[in-house]
Amino acid sequence: MLAKIWGELKNFISLRSLQARIFIIILAVGVIPGVLMRYGILTNYEERSVEQRVATVQNQLLIVGNHLVSNNYFNTDKADEQSRAVINAELEMISNLYEGRVMVINSALKVVKDTYGISEGKTIISEEVIRCLRGESMSHYDKDHGYIEMTTPIVNNNGSEDGSSTIVGVMLTSISNDAIVSTMEVLSRKAMILEYLMLVGIVALAIILSRVLIRPFNRVTEAINEVKAGYSDEAISVPDYVETVHIVDAFNQVLRRMKALDDSRQEFVANVSHELKTPMTSIKVLADSLLAQDNAPAELYREFMEDIVSEIDRENQIITDLLALVKMDKKVQELNIVSLNINDLTELILKRLRPIARKKDVEVVFESMRPVVAEVDEVKMTLIMTNLVENAIKYNKEHGWVKVELDADHQYFTFCVSDSGMGIPEESLPHIYERFFRVDKSHSREIGGTGLGLAITKNAVLMHRGSITVTSVEGEGTSFTVRIPLTYIAGNNGQSVQKREELQ
Ligand code: ADP
Repeated sequence: MLAKIWGELKNFISLRSLQARIFIIILAVGVIPGVLMRYGILTNYEERSVEQRVATVQNQLLIVGNHLVSNNYFNTDKADEQSRAVINAELEMISNLYEGRVMVINSALKVVKDTYGISEGKTIISEEVIRCLRGESMSHYDKDHGYIEMTTPIVNNNGSEDGSSTIVGVMLTSISNDAIVSTMEVLSRKAMILEYLMLVGIVALAIILSRVLIRPFNRVTEAINEVKAGYSDEAISVPDYVETVHIVDAFNQVLRRMKALDDSRQEFVANVSHELKTPMTSIKVLADSLLAQDNAPAELYREFMEDIVSEIDRENQIITDLLALVKMDKKVQELNIVSLNINDLTELILKRLRPIARKKDVEVVFESMRPVVAEVDEVKMTLIMTNLVENAIKYNKEHGWVKVELDADHQYFTFCVSDSGMGIPEESLPHIYERFFRVDKSHSREIGGTGLGLAITKNAVLMHRGSITVTSVEGEGTSFTVRIPLTYIAGNNGQSVQKREELQ
C-alpha cells in the first residue's frame, strides 16, 4: 500500500502522470496571468506617478522661476529683501512639500540658493545644469536611491511678447519618491492577498478538475483489470472521450482475438482427442471381441491382429502429423535453407509415390518448363510436394491421371499438381486447410487420411513466404498451385506466417 502511494507520488512529481500535468497546467494558467498582471499594473503605476510628480513640481518651479525673474532675484542690488524672502519661502515650501532640495543656480553656475543651505556660494559644474542653461531640461528617476532629480530653466522673456527669451539660471531639484513607494507597497500587499486567495481557489479547482478529467482513464484500467482478473470477459465500453473509445476498441479487438484463439485451441484439443480416441476404440472393440470368444481359431486371431496393427499404424500416423504441425506452429522455427534443384527433388518424390499410384492404376506425369534451382528447406519442400501428389493420387479414380508441372519466372517458381479425381465441393474449399477437416470423413479414413496433410502443407508454404491456391470442379478434378520465391527472404518467420494466415 505504502509502496503504491510512493509510486504514484513519484509519477506525479516526475510529471509522468496525466493527472499531474493537468494539475500543473490549470495551476499555471490560473496563477501566471495574475502575477504578470500585478507586476504590470505596479510598474505602470510607478511610471505614471513619477511622471505626474515631475510635471507638478516642474509647474510649481516654473511659477517660482517667473517670480525670481520678475523680482530680479539674481541681482542683489536691484532685488528688495522682502521679495527675496517671499521667494525663498516659496522654495522652502516646495522642498518641504516634496521632501526634497531645491538649488537655484545662476548663469555663472554659482549656487544662489540651496534649501539645504549647504552649497550656497559654491560653483556647480554639472552636465545637467549646463545643458539646462542651453535649454535642455531633464528629469531622472533614481529608483535605487529613492529620489527624482530634475532641472528647470529660469527663463527671462525680457518683458517682450515676441517670444525672444534668455535662460538666466537653473533650478536643480531632487525630490523624494517615498510617497510613491509607500502607495505601491500598499497596492502590492493588497494584490498579494488577492493572489493568495486566488491561488487557494485555483489549487482546489486544479485538484478537482485533474481528478474528474482523469476518471474515464481510471475506468478503462478498472474494466481491463476486471477482465484480467477473470470476473468478466465481455467487451468493455468507456464512451466518455474519443481517446478512451479508441483504447477500449483496441482492447476489445485484442480480447476478441484472444477468445478466437482460445476457441480454436479448445476445438483443436477436442478434435485431437476425438481423432486419437477413434483408433483406440476400434482396437478395444477388436480385442474385446477376441477375448469374448473361447477357442477362437488362429485365422480369426490373425485377421483381428492385422486390423489392430492397422489401427495402431493410423494412430501413429496421426501423432506423427500432429508433431509435424506443432513443430511448425512454434514461432521461431528455424528453416534449414539450402540451394536445391527442384526438378531433381520432384523426380525423386514422384519415384517414391509411383508405386502407390500404380496400385490404383493412376498415371503420374511430370512436365518441367525449365530447370529450377531455389533456396528452400529440403525437408519442408518434400513435405509440401509429397502431400499434394499423395492427395492427388489418393482422391483419384481408377485409371485416372496426375499431372505435376514445374515452372519459374525471375522471382518465383510454381509447382502445380492437377488430377482427374473426385474434386472438392465448392462449400468445402474454404475449409480444406483446417486441421482435421475432411470432405468425406469415412472415405478419407479408409484411405488413411488424417485431415492434417493440407494444414501442414500450407504452414510449410507460408514459412517459405509463398502462397498456395486451389481450383476444383466436383467430379472432374482438382488443381493445387504453390508459388515460392526463388531466393529466401529472411525475417521474423513466425509473425509472417501468422499475418499471412490472417489475410488468407
Ligand atoms: P487427408 O489426410 O484427409 O488427406 P488433407 O488435409 O490432406 O487430409 O486433405 C483434407 C481434405 O481435402 C481431404 O480429406 C479431402 O477430402 C480433400 N482433398 C485434398 N486433396 C484433394 C484432392 N486432390 N482431390 C480431392 N479432394 C482432396
